[in-house]
Amino acid sequence: MSGPKDSFRVLAFHSSESQGAEGDHVLFTETALAFFRDLAAREGFIFDVTTDWNDLNAAKLAAYRVVMWLNHFPTTEAQRAGFQAYMEGGGGWLGFHIAGYNDKDTKWPWFLQFYGDAIFYTNNWPIKPAKLVVDTPDHPVTRNIPTSFVSPANEWYLWKPSPRLNPNVKVLVTLDPSNYPLGTKDILTEGDLPVVWTNTGYRMLYMNMGHGRDIFTNGDQNRLIGNGLLWLGARGITALPGSTLY
Ligand code: ZN
Repeated sequence: MSGPKDSFRVLAFHSSESQGAEGDHVLFTETALAFFRDLAAREGFIFDVTTDWNDLNAAKLAAYRVVMWLNHFPTTEAQRAGFQAYMEGGGGWLGFHIAGYNDKDTKWPWFLQFYGDAIFYTNNWPIKPAKLVVDTPDHPVTRNIPTSFVSPANEWYLWKPSPRLNPNVKVLVTLDPSNYPLGTKDILTEGDLPVVWTNTGYRMLYMNMGHGRDIFTNGDQNRLIGNGLLWLGARGITALPGSTLY
């Protein structure tokens, strides 16, 4: 049925373990798919899912206002080119956790600037909850979120350089330094650790969360994630009719 609430379409990409995704990232994906399917039913957007990263092409993406990467990223030149063209044409992107991974071997300069020049540096282990602080309480993505909250257990990625140093990046949520030292086997001891940010030159949002099955167990964080998708989907439309979140 079409109607005013069918306001946008989302295509979520993910990989299975046999396609190269980590087991704990597949667990996150299972909970994420359930969360977004429920959100789609309540908010009236269309939520489609694919494990074929070759769907990152103009013909397929033309129907979608937002592309989501849940636990992996494109690995071929054609997939990368398809994504770049989509984003440069005004597409939307919501990336979680490993979706933003890049290092000296990635060799995808366009993605690096798109992402805010943040290069993976290290992470905590095992997974730990962490207190997060909202940088921008007036932003649509952090609206109605407490100024700080404890985010469920996650593997937190630290980036060097921090994306905050990029003038096009707006950091929305940051890991509170009071969490340090964080981890026992691999320990984060210091450093600016943005958790949610957007590159204002694109319709994009990155969220550090995405490891294991506990991510969607905190109502404040669920609202943050829901806000994020609705912001990407609704931006340029004015507002989602009847939305309870936006
Ligand atoms: Zn992870």
